[in-house]
Amino acid sequence: MVIKPKIRGFICTTAHPVGCAKNVQEQIDYVASHKTDVDGPKNVLVIGCSNGYGLASRITSAFGFNANTLGVMFEKEPTERRTASAGWYNTVAFEKAAAEKGLYAESLNVDAFSNEAKQDAIAKIKQNMGKVDLVVYSLGAPRRKDPNTGDIYSSTLKPIGEEVTRKNLNTDTREVSDITLEPANDDEIFNTVKVMGGEDWEMWMDALAEADVLAEGVKTTAYTYIGKDLTWPIYGGATIGKAKEDLDRAAKAISAKLEGSLGGKGYVSVLKALVTQSSSAIPVMPLYISALYKVMKEEGTHEGCIEQIFGLFYKEIYADGALNLDSTGRIRMEDNELKDSVQSKVADIWAKVNSDNLDELTDFSGYQNEFYRLFGFGFDDVDYDADVNPIV
Ligand code: NAD
Repeated sequence: MVIKPKIRGFICTTAHPVGCAKNVQEQIDYVASHKTDVDGPKNVLVIGCSNGYGLASRITSAFGFNANTLGVMFEKEPTERRTASAGWYNTVAFEKAAAEKGLYAESLNVDAFSNEAKQDAIAKIKQNMGKVDLVVYSLGAPRRKDPNTGDIYSSTLKPIGEEVTRKNLNTDTREVSDITLEPANDDEIFNTVKVMGGEDWEMWMDALAEADVLAEGVKTTAYTYIGKDLTWPIYGGATIGKAKEDLDRAAKAISAKLEGSLGGKGYVSVLKALVTQSSSAIPVMPLYISALYKVMKEEGTHEGCIEQIFGLFYKEIYADGALNLDSTGRIRMEDNELKDSVQSKVADIWAKVNSDNLDELTDFSGYQNEFYRLFGFGFDDVDYDADVNPIV
């Protein structure tokens, strides 16, 4: 099959196995060439392991610290006529590279919100790793089925309180125009917290503790984004921000349980905005990220998933000495994004940008390249006219 990108709105419905493998290899190479001799995790569970920040966490664990990894993901398998989703191909490439290094790496393609996923993961941990010393929670999901009641919750991306009108970029048509987002009602806020809040993270940690598969001194982290004025009305101060606030509550509850018996700890880690399948679905974010990339690339402070997670592990979680925590107890990795100088340059671009000057004022081409690369497209040394077998 000759595989070309098929874009539908903010998703690409095809993925290229060779390109996805390149994407994974580039991240492995980054870690291999930057790692230092630091004591890190040895047995890691990554929930949401196949794309974005979760994939980078798995790669850093395995290729930075020689850790065994168990991953949980929700991906589409390939068929004769249809490609797999990118996360499937990423995971195949990751597992192959880890096996070549002699590391245990297995992945469960299941709904992480279910009780079965937790029980399957526990069985695999017992069988292959004994106990885990790091649990990364990196899900980006639009809906969640409560495993105990069967109720299904869907998240919404809406402001809270009053309607918000903001510049927005249609990444298909390259058109910049205002969109107005109606405020969420209480139900929508509640549902979003159910999906993207901390409840499921706590359920995972409770299940793992109960099954006695958490090692002494275990660490766990979930990922969040906060942002500043430009994105606040549609992110930090919106439904998704409420869900993310709930992670802070969950981190405290998890830490309270882990500290007592195991000397463990739960952290929320705040990461920078960048292009992933999840962030491209959030209104306003593609325009913000395009402007941010322009400014941060000019300043030489641009980072992708692997640089952020490598920094999180090597300079914070596994560094010698105390962590740099904010007043809420979160680890902050997005200082460069939030610097006043960066934010004010992004705000200047924001005020002036329109459909005609998009390429001149922002790094939309960089945004688009990165978006294509998420699905394995746009790598120089991949022959995209070649016939490839989608089944890997
Ligand atoms: P992503 O879309 O790249 O990856 C999401 C992962 O979740 C995939 O591995 C997918 O398979 C998995 N997943 C989704 N639903 C699942 C389910 N039901 N069961 C099992 N696995 C499932 O997302 P991302 O952007 O890397 O986001 C990961 C976390 O990082 C999120 O909490 C997000 O809010 C946070 N974050 C993202 C950004 C950003 O700009 N992208 C910034 C800061 C924090």
